[in-house]
Amino acid sequence: MGDASFVPGPIFDTHAHYTSADFDADRDALLASLPAKGVSGICEQATSSGDAAACVAMAHRYDFIYAAIGIHPESLLPADTCPPGQLAPTITKYHGDWRAELDDLMPYFSDPKVVAIGECGLDHHWPVPAEAQLALFEAEIRLSLALDKPIIVHDREAHAEVYALLKKYRPKGIVHCYSGSAEDAAWLTAQGLYLGFGGACTWQGAHRAAKAIAAAPLGQLVLETDCPYMAPQPCRGQRCDSSMIAYVGETVAALKGVTPSEIFQITDANARRAFQIK
Ligand SMILES: [Zn+2]
Repeated sequence: MGDASFVPGPIFDTHAHYTSADFDADRDALLASLPAKGVSGICEQATSSGDAAACVAMAHRYDFIYAAIGIHPESLLPADTCPPGQLAPTITKYHGDWRAELDDLMPYFSDPKVVAIGECGLDHHWPVPAEAQLALFEAEIRLSLALDKPIIVHDREAHAEVYALLKKYRPKGIVHCYSGSAEDAAWLTAQGLYLGFGGACTWQGAHRAAKAIAAAPLGQLVLETDCPYMAPQPCRGQRCDSSMIAYVGETVAALKGVTPSEIFQITDANARRAFQIK
């Protein structure tokens, strides 16, 4: 990384949130600068009907950007749990009727740049209503099977319930920001799922992620940011962007005993296979 002429890549960031207000000041300049920094692909993640249109518009503006459309469990956070400005339209517009919101999102799935259902899953870190998020996630898994598109799984402190549904339905897709054990990494990948790793695996003390990366086949690993969050070392705490995956690739390469260049080639190919794109 010390050589200024060296450009890492191809970097395929399978999980980004560039519609975040953190990018309002320089979004287009930043996105336009990424290919020269080795970024070959990005899958931009919607969290509800609130950002879905902007995700799809971004995917149309840039060849290398694709979109995942879905409803994130945090979009179900009720009015008494977060400031009014942070409430999703799932609550403010649909009054918790996620089925109606999902129906309204359906036209997006016939768009060729919409390659996945997501971001969806289960979250027990925040006070998301348990029954509603379980029903929503199950509906999104069934949608992924019906549409034959991969699902992007958010699993925060919800391993048992997430894994039970993944075992039951066996969808295609990516378990984003994988935080499970090495044992679970083995069967999830054997079932055909991809595991996404980002900045967190570069942080000091990330032994669990290191074991999971070691246990997963190279052909089932993908790299991601979850930007603007989760910047890797040595950028931890800064606003993250896809070019910083260069550091994640170095960490994963060291754990797998291959070169960073091989990791970028392999994970770029894995991402394209996972999203069924060229
Ligand atoms: Zn995300």
